[in-house]
Amino acid sequence: MHTGRLVLTPHDPYYLPDDIDAVIENLRDIQFCADPVADLKGSHYLLGERFMQLVSFMGCSPFIQLEPSPDGEPFCHLFIVGPYPEPVFLRGRNTGAPRCESCRKRIPDWPSQIIQWQQDPGHYQAACPHCAHQQNPAKYNWRQSAGSGRLFLCIENIFPNEAIPSPELMQTLEHSSTAKMPWGYFYIQD
Ligand SMILES: [Zn+2]
Repeated sequence: MHTGRLVLTPHDPYYLPDDIDAVIENLRDIQFCADPVADLKGSHYLLGERFMQLVSFMGCSPFIQLEPSPDGEPFCHLFIVGPYPEPVFLRGRNTGAPRCESCRKRIPDWPSQIIQWQQDPGHYQAACPHCAHQQNPAKYNWRQSAGSGRLFLCIENIFPNEAIPSPELMQTLEHSSTAKMPWGYFYIQD
C-alpha cells in the first residue's frame, strides 16, 4: 500500500510561479533537494543534505530511505507535477469531505462537485446542500487531505502528517517568485 506523499503548492490554486526552474534552484541552494534521479523519467530529484532539517518529523527517529535501492523499493524523493494551464485537483484515499465555509457542515457530494468544477475551474460555483452558500470548490478547506493547484512539489514516501514543512522551507518557496505568494501543503495516499 502506498505510504503517502507530502505535496507543496501555492496557497492560491490559480497562481503559477513565473519561473519554475528558479524555484528548484532555490530549493537546491538551501539543500532541500539535490541532483535529478538518474533512473526516473520526468522531474525527479534526490533530497538534499538539509532535507531532515527543512521538514519536522513527528514521532521518534523515523527511518527515511533517501536513496534508490537496487530492488526498486519506494524511497523519499522530490518530483514535480505540472505546470498546468488551469488548476487540477489532487486527492487520495485519505481525503475527507470538506466543510462549507459558511455553515461549517460537511459537503457529502464533493466528488460530483469536483467533476463539474473540472469543466470550468475558473468560474464554477458549488451550492452547499445545507445552506445554499455558493463556493468555488478550488477554495474548499480539505484540512490538508487534498488540494488543487497548477504546480505541485511532491515528496514521495511520507505518511500523512508525519512531516511538517519548516518556516524556512515555506519562506524559500514564497520568495522564489517575484509575486512572493505564500505556499501551502497537504498529504495524499494513492
Ligand atoms: Zn453551507
